[in-house]
Amino acid sequence: MAQHEAIHRKTCIFKGMIKRIKELETIALGLQPDAHERKVARKKVTDYTEEFLKNIDSAKSFIHTPDQGIALLDSPIGESPLAIDKAIDLIRVNVDTPGINPASGGYLGFIPGGGLYYSALGDYMADITNRYAGFFFASPGAVRMENMLIKWMAELAGYPSSHAGNLTSGGSMANLSAIIAAREARQINSKNILKSVIYFTEHAHHCVAKSIRIAGLGECVQRHIPTDTECRMDTEALEKTIALDIAAGLNPWLVIGSAGTTNTGSIDPLEEIGRIAKENNISYHIDAAYGGFFMLCPEGKKKLKGIEASDSLVMDPHKGLFLPYGIGVVIVRKKNDLQKPFSFDANYLQDGNDQDTEAELSPAELSPELTKHFRGMRLWLPLKLHGLKPFRAALEEKLLLAKYFHEKVQSLGFETGPEPELSVVTYRYIPKTKKKLDEKAINAFNEKLVHEIQSDGRVFISSTMIGTQYTLRFACLSFRTHLKTVDLFLRILKEKTKLLEKRII
Ligand SMILES: *Cc1c(COP(=O)(O)O)cnc(C)c1O
Repeated sequence: MAQHEAIHRKTCIFKGMIKRIKELETIALGLQPDAHERKVARKKVTDYTEEFLKNIDSAKSFIHTPDQGIALLDSPIGESPLAIDKAIDLIRVNVDTPGINPASGGYLGFIPGGGLYYSALGDYMADITNRYAGFFFASPGAVRMENMLIKWMAELAGYPSSHAGNLTSGGSMANLSAIIAAREARQINSKNILKSVIYFTEHAHHCVAKSIRIAGLGECVQRHIPTDTECRMDTEALEKTIALDIAAGLNPWLVIGSAGTTNTGSIDPLEEIGRIAKENNISYHIDAAYGGFFMLCPEGKKKLKGIEASDSLVMDPHKGLFLPYGIGVVIVRKKNDLQKPFSFDANYLQDGNDQDTEAELSPAELSPELTKHFRGMRLWLPLKLHGLKPFRAALEEKLLLAKYFHEKVQSLGFETGPEPELSVVTYRYIPKTKKKLDEKAINAFNEKLVHEIQSDGRVFISSTMIGTQYTLRFACLSFRTHLKTVDLFLRILKEKTKLLEKRII
């Protein structure tokens, strides 16, 4: 009897459970808009992005709003749905207005961004189909696509077929991966760390020092090798320093070169560093996050000669290939260098570890990531749909625009740094006053000039310190920057320097 009751009770509970599951299913179906709802939402989104693109040539490159998008917080994450028009309004006002507009051709600060349209469509497809690009087993095609792209970039750099690589979220993660790879290859550990020496210049990107710290290498000896007048590593000093370190019983193990510094676009003597690294049996990493893709045009290829001598290399497709933010690449000469730190074994992944991989490496064995965005698609689609020709043209155009600007800005009375090696020009204005201004006053003038240009907003520029001199930077890398953008900027410079000069005379 008691048993009977128990069965009856269980059946009731079960019925109740099924009822609840169905109720929940009805609510959860809200996550699956139907074809009509998708069409409506898609149209609103593309209307918005088309409007954005229609105005991109005249849009400001920098906008300061007093509220800086704070109204976004007035619409907290909550239980009830928001209509897509309202959501887009929130984005338009609070996200896509204040701050830098990296999609605009007038963005000439830091290292400019891009945002190729076909990348967005690639992301769209990758997001809808949601292929799992971590393992060959899970998506052989997605992994083949990523490996094919890495092979293309490795061959561009002149790396041998022993290479391996990984599409990362950006240059910082790629540099971190490379530094970890070098650490493992050279077996830097608690027994030798205090004696182990890393060499780079003060112009290396700050993410290099950050990566060294994150990789647990902060206790290594870190030597800043002096630079020449054009901010390139002084290789004589490098060679001497290494010799002294060896004589002192230290363990030189890593030299990091920059192929296009962020600051001035300078390229370290890549070949010469390669020779020194080889002779001293030191790992050689090159950070070409900014400059690497200039290899696609003849002048860049010549200037970046020697890149093939490195053990690892970083490039940023979200810079030099004009992709939207969120993609970098690390490539190592010997695939074991990435496999050693990042391969793994886990019982719950046993189905993914089949050996039938036709020698395709899986991204998950070559990076800290397991589940990841299928980044290959956003790179593959524009490369395929455009072909390489317009990429090569846009990069050569950037090199020439930088030379053009370097010339023209001098005729406006600016002092400039050396002729640009890539597409960064440094310059500053010495006001033509009766009384000679001291450096502090000159610096203050140039700082004001940057602020004037930023608050005007038609173009955006940034500045740097070269030694004690406040220096303006012209960084040209957006696929939307053309001759008319540079001419507009020159007119703005003329107008603003006159204005400020009047104020101090
Ligand atoms: C931009 C840049 C980095 C950092 O890359 P992110 O993609 O911003 O993480 C590293 N090195 C150089 C030379 C760069 O220009």
